[in-house]
Formats: sequence, structure tokens, C-alpha cells
Amino acid sequence: MDLALSIPLTHPKASYLACKEEIDAAIKRVMESGRYILGQEVKAFEQEFAAYIGVRFGIGVGSGTEALHIALRACGIQSGDEVITVSHTAVATVAAIQLSGARPILIDIDRDTLVMDVSQIERAITPRTKAILPVHLYGNVVDMKSLRSISESHGLWVIEDCAQSHGATHQGQKSGTWGNIAAFSFYPTKNLGAFGDGGMVLTNDPELDERVRLLREYGWRQRYISEILGLNSRLDELQATILRVKLKHLDQWNEERRKKAKIYTERLTSLGIVCPSEKAGALPVYHLYVIRTEKRDALQMFLKAKGIETLVHYPIPIHLQNAYKGLGYRKGDLPVTEQCASEILSLPLFPELKEDEIERVVESIRSFMKAASIK
Ligand SMILES: *Cc1c(COP(=O)(O)O)cnc(C)c1O
Repeated sequence: MDLALSIPLTHPKASYLACKEEIDAAIKRVMESGRYILGQEVKAFEQEFAAYIGVRFGIGVGSGTEALHIALRACGIQSGDEVITVSHTAVATVAAIQLSGARPILIDIDRDTLVMDVSQIERAITPRTKAILPVHLYGNVVDMKSLRSISESHGLWVIEDCAQSHGATHQGQKSGTWGNIAAFSFYPTKNLGAFGDGGMVLTNDPELDERVRLLREYGWRQRYISEILGLNSRLDELQATILRVKLKHLDQWNEERRKKAKIYTERLTSLGIVCPSEKAGALPVYHLYVIRTEKRDALQMFLKAKGIETLVHYPIPIHLQNAYKGLGYRKGDLPVTEQCASEILSLPLFPELKEDEIERVVESIRSFMKAASIK
């Protein structure tokens, strides 16, 4: 295998190279400012990102996991409560619910979009249910209109996990604007990524905004005076200044992802590969481009030998992971989730991916499918 010709799944360094001068200058400015935690850069980025999404308040925190945890706590979620989410997600989603003390209730996904099947929510509601936590996985926004009519009729909080959906819309409205509160991650490979950890909580509710601000730093409104129990989860000035530069490119980068996804879909559908489907009214941002095939494992090995990196997001659904045995789920409980976990494969996709690289991935899949059909 010629490593120089290999195609990575994702390439966060390319986004640095794309705006290197601006990022280098911003880093230098912060280094020389003498202020490294919760200063002007964080404040400006909180305002700019909140404005970009279209909500009133943004609160920078240490990571996406902590953004979820703090959002849950700001809503008063605690031990004894239940929070409904999906099993087909990053473990962070479920870990955050457990950090709050609540019990995660895991429901199945929609076969086409691979995000929460909202028709499963009502039967999961109990007197202990306090919140619904939709995950806009892969950059696909959950059917939030239907979800909201359920949450409103049952008086439940809606906490959106937007870690993979910066800029994605559903019926013209961005993810992060539909619920009471939303959590974003700026992990380096996300659509808007820092060069380290980072996250943000967004809300239109001034009371939630205030509670999140207290929670992120020891319950302080005033230094050294703890009004409530808090933690330490702060976004730093270096990451904020980098994110401010990158935010200006986000729409264009999402557009590039969509363009590339479209090429994959046009080329792969005729090969018998199940490609991501876009529901009417949805504008996904393709954090990942996830195909499905029963021959997943063999295809992944074949592509690896050709220098094409792929990954499975995610190979073992949360409800079947060892660490989550205590939740009491068994194999067969979430059939769509379980079937998808054995068929999904994420192909290389990032804004700087070149068309001839897409071509190589497609051609490799074509030769694999041809060989597989002869066998
Ligand atoms: C990345 C991710 C998170 C967690 O974000 P971190 O910044 O890595 O803590 C949460 N949920 C989903 C769906 C994610 O993809």
C-alpha cells in the first residue's frame, strides 16, 4: 500500500492549512494578551456562534460531553429522573445523562435517516420522564416538529445533541433552535472543530443561560462565592479565537461536504449500496457519510488494503455495551439499531477531499461489489 496515496476518513489539519495565516495571527494575539481563560475571545465567540445558530445565549464549556451534562443539570435533571434518547449514538450522549444522575431510556432509530424514530417516544414515557434528548447524528436533524408536539403535550424538556450538526436545518430551522437548550461539541473532527477540546451550550431562555453560566464555574456569579454546586468546564481563549476564524468558513465547508456527499450518492446507489437518504425539508451537513451494506466487514477490509480509511460509527449500540449492562437491555430490544450497527460504514468525507479521491473510493467499491457478485 502506498501511504502517500492513502485517503483518510477525516482530515482536521486541512482546515488549519486552509486558514493558517489567520489562525496563526489569532493565536499570537491571544498569547500576547495575557488572558487565557474566559476572556474577550470566548465572549465574542459565544455571541458569534449563538447568532450563527439563531439563539440568544451561548455559553462556552470544556467539551460536548460537558455541554450535554451541564444542559441537563441546568434543566434540573437529577437522580430518579428518566431521559429518553437513542442507543445509536456516540457514547458521550448516554454518559452525559448518567453524569446528571438520571437514567437513560434508549429507543430505536428510523431506518432511513438513522436518527431517533420519534414514533417510539410516547411508549417510552413514564411518570419519571423529564426530558427527551434527540441526537442529530451524522448531521441529520431529527423530525423536531413531531418531537416538539410530543414534548409539549407531556411537559418534557428538550435537550438537543448538536455535536454532529453545526448548521444543519430541518424545515428551514437550524438544529439547536428547536429545543429548550442545545449542546455543541468542537472536537477537532466535528464540522466546526477546535484544535483541542471545546463545547458550547445554547439557549433562548435567560434563566437557563444564567444556570449554565453558574454551573460551568463552581456556581460562581462572583468570584469565590458559590451560589449553587458547580464544576469546572471552561472554554479557553486559544480554542475560542481559532473557532472564531473557522466559523466564518463553516457554511462554505458544509456546502463542500454536501457537494461531495451528492457525488457519492449518485455514484454508489447504482452499485447496490444503501446511501444516506435526505427527507423532504431536511438540509443535512454530512458530519459523516454513512453507507449500508450486508457485506460491510469484507468491504471495509477491501478498502483498507487500497489505502482507504473507513470507520464504523458505531459498532456496538450503547444498550449492548458491557459498561451499560446495568440498564437492563438485551439483544433484540432495538432491532433497527442492531441491524444498522452491523451494516453501516463511514466513508472518507471532509471539505478538502478531492474529486479524484472520491472517484478512487467509488471505483474501489465498484470492484469490490463486482467481485462479491461473482462469488
Ligand atoms: C462528539 C460527540 C459528543 C461529545 O463531544 P465531545 O466534545 O467529544 O465531548 C456528544 N454527542 C455526539 C453525538 C458526538 O458526536
